[in-house]
Amino acid sequence: MSIKTAWFALLALWLALAASPARAAGPAVLDTGNEALPLAPYLSMKSDPEGRTDAAAMFSQAAQGNFSPLPGDSTAFGFTRGATWFHGRLYNQNSREQRWLLVLHYPLLDNVDVYLRYPDGRVEHMASGDTLPFSARSIRYRHPNFWVELPQRTEVELLVRVASRSSLQVPLAVYTPGAFAELERDSQFGIGVFYGGILVALLCYNLVLWLSLRDASHFWYMCHVAGFGLVMFCLNGLAFEYLWPNSPWWANQAIPVSMAISQIAMHQFCRVFLELEDRQPRADKVSQALILFFVLMGVASFFVEYRTVVRPMTLAVFPGALFILYLAINSIRLGYAPARVFLLAWAFLLLGTALYASVSFGLLPKNFFTEYGIQIGSAMEIILLSFALAYRYARLRGENERLVHEHNEQLERHVARRTSELSTALEQLAEANQRLRESNRRDALTGLFNRKHFREVFEHQLHHANEHRQSLGVLLIDLDHFKDVNDTHGHLAGDECLRWLGRCLHDSLVEHGALMARFGGEEFVAVLPDTEGERLLNVAEVLRLRICGEPVRYAGNSITLSASIGVYVLRPGSGIGVDDALHRADDALYVAKSRGRNCVQAAEGVIPD
Ligand code: GH3
Ligand code: MG
Ligand code: MG
Repeated sequence: MSIKTAWFALLALWLALAASPARAAGPAVLDTGNEALPLAPYLSMKSDPEGRTDAAAMFSQAAQGNFSPLPGDSTAFGFTRGATWFHGRLYNQNSREQRWLLVLHYPLLDNVDVYLRYPDGRVEHMASGDTLPFSARSIRYRHPNFWVELPQRTEVELLVRVASRSSLQVPLAVYTPGAFAELERDSQFGIGVFYGGILVALLCYNLVLWLSLRDASHFWYMCHVAGFGLVMFCLNGLAFEYLWPNSPWWANQAIPVSMAISQIAMHQFCRVFLELEDRQPRADKVSQALILFFVLMGVASFFVEYRTVVRPMTLAVFPGALFILYLAINSIRLGYAPARVFLLAWAFLLLGTALYASVSFGLLPKNFFTEYGIQIGSAMEIILLSFALAYRYARLRGENERLVHEHNEQLERHVARRTSELSTALEQLAEANQRLRESNRRDALTGLFNRKHFREVFEHQLHHANEHRQSLGVLLIDLDHFKDVNDTHGHLAGDECLRWLGRCLHDSLVEHGALMARFGGEEFVAVLPDTEGERLLNVAEVLRLRICGEPVRYAGNSITLSASIGVYVLRPGSGIGVDDALHRADDALYVAKSRGRNCVQAAEGVIPD
């Protein structure tokens, strides 16, 4: 039988139960067709608020008809005080089976006492419940169970006393050993799929994600799944069976503790996942208050009675879950896309939890959907939440990539702009530098080279001329009686004369490739490469004639200038340096002055012998 058919069988069983007449007056008849029989229709009940009445008194109460039928055939009674007694009769018609298993399909009951009264008056008593160690049970099974001897064709009276701080659910059933084995095989498989397949797998999967991504939402998701799984494990009775079979105290304590953990983690997960702090700050405060409440309840569960904490906690689960529903819807409204899958997941859990809690409070009867609804709903929830996490992660990564891309583009634009600004500044600087260097070389008044720069270039030229065995012609030009010009026409007129002479030198000598400079005051110098002898003297003479032939016009005056020119030739390999050459040219100039000015005087050796 597969798990599916087992579920359908259970469902069919429930429907058959629901459709059965309100009360079967007679005993529960066990025959070959009834190898698994729920006892609810055959039971009557009586509550014992003080919990002090003994079995003998209850047997006689039952005989007097003081027990009442189960309300609406339901086996869920919510939270009750003291003890509750159930009475029924069993009649075994099955010729093959004398030994039956009585199972109470609810694991959280603290005390269950079963009394069997045989026709000979013998009463047999058996006890179970989660206040006794697990080993006290007839067979190792998560729900309380009892082997009962039912002799053939004999009516046996059954009296069950139940007392518990948890909500009271008493779904009693009897099974032949074969039928029970069949039932258990499938439900164990279903539980295995739920815990092993879904809870543990998702727990591991999200543990790996949390370790690698370090995103708090995965951590809280894990806590939520673990806490929730533990609650379910306790509620199924499996935690008692497998985790702490010898600790009845902790078996009871584990429920409020794991409940608190699962709720704290659930709200915390919700806060992180829906980014409440940023997106819904006021709702975030409410969420924090809920978390605080569950923390307090979890701690309180160690000190106060089970019911005092479990009841308010169970009550708070509802509004808490509805609040999360509201948050999810609000998130979607605010345009937060990952909240959609979250909402779907939430709807499933809510439905399951609502069904389960309704049973706890006796609002709904216990059946297939109400009993397994929470498992199915929560399985869907945790699977979908895992999807939601993946979706959220993908979204965050996409957003991150977009931001990085945008940032890079912005950075590139910024760098490009800065680079162009920088290169413009560099160009301007280079230009300014060039201008500065140029102005350092030039004489401000005439625009010709100054003496310092002239000297440097002259050195180079001399070196070059020596290498190429060329001569250099040197002209030293001095204006005659220039002091008089200043005295007569004023200093500004004198300046204009000097500017004019600069231009005149340039125009006359540039064609000879001459290096020209203002040597100082009204004295100028020119070096003509590869020029000597008559040709050099001729150039000097033409220059002299031009100076005295073109009067300078300034402020309506016409100023006639004249100049004396000293000429020298530097021959290659002569060993004569720059300073020496200038001296010799100066000497020639001095001679020219003494000869009466306005003439050209060659130094010795200008005309080769
Ligand atoms: P000589 O024929 O012997 O060379 O007589 P001179 O007057 O030309 O020579 P001197 O060395 O006695 O005087 C040079 C004059 O040149 C003196 C100075 O006023 C003038 N001078 C020098 N530099 C400048 C200048 O930059 N601007 C003007 N306006 N005059 C200058
Ligand atoms: Mg002079
Ligand atoms: Mg002079």
